[in-house]
Amino acid sequence: MPLRLVLLGAPGSGKGTLTSRLLKQMPRLTSISTGDLLRAEIQSSTPIGRLADAYIKEGKLLPDELMAGMVETELAKRDIIDKSFLLDGFPRTPSQALELERRLQDNNINLVVELDVPPDVIVGRIANRWMHSSGRVYNLEYNPPKVPFKDDVTGEPLFQRPDDNPETVRKRLKTYYEQLEPIKRFYQSRGVYDKVGGETSDIIFPQLYRLAKSLLD
Ligand code: ATP
Ligand code: MG
Repeated sequence: MPLRLVLLGAPGSGKGTLTSRLLKQMPRLTSISTGDLLRAEIQSSTPIGRLADAYIKEGKLLPDELMAGMVETELAKRDIIDKSFLLDGFPRTPSQALELERRLQDNNINLVVELDVPPDVIVGRIANRWMHSSGRVYNLEYNPPKVPFKDDVTGEPLFQRPDDNPETVRKRLKTYYEQLEPIKRFYQSRGVYDKVGGETSDIIFPQLYRLAKSLLD
């Protein structure tokens, strides 16, 4: 059965790291990260990019309709709507979840996994986070690049996200915890909700892998 997985987790909870580990183990899986899509739009200075830049700087969520449309376009572009896919960063409100359900129809989300990481761990992690424009994420303590401040694959310089400053992180965390209960209830009502937890991605990964694998087979 195709796996249609949503990862739900606070900023810095390890969605990006866990996604790349899952993709390595599950070659048939494709991932879509709305944060990475938006950062690419910003990079190319498209109209959506200019809009996104303003929202992201403020730590605010973009409009639900716009995000749902963006994900639909991406699923169509990659021709994976009826295949296995993983969504990182979408949906994050009940209205986005409803929009997605309407668009997926018979190919609905069949697993939502909440990554439960203690908030104090998260704040420390974000401060140490550096990334590459491809979306590859590094942590100076736990997962440092081979050459300091350079991407392992391309050798290009790493940067810190402009929204990873303490004030914006606080806002993003607040928004996340506000939306968590309603979206959790939505997916619980669909019978697809699960939760894994721990302080590191090494602890979380095997739990996530087990859940994902049980559906993919
Ligand atoms: P992480 O820091 O672990 O990547 P995050 O969820 O805070 O987690 P992204 O997913 O990269 O970060 O998203 C960055 C920003 O892009 C969000 O703060 C928000 O402004 C915008 N964004 C991304 N996905 C959505 C979405 N589904 N709905 C609305 N806004 C979104
Ligand atoms: Mg991310």
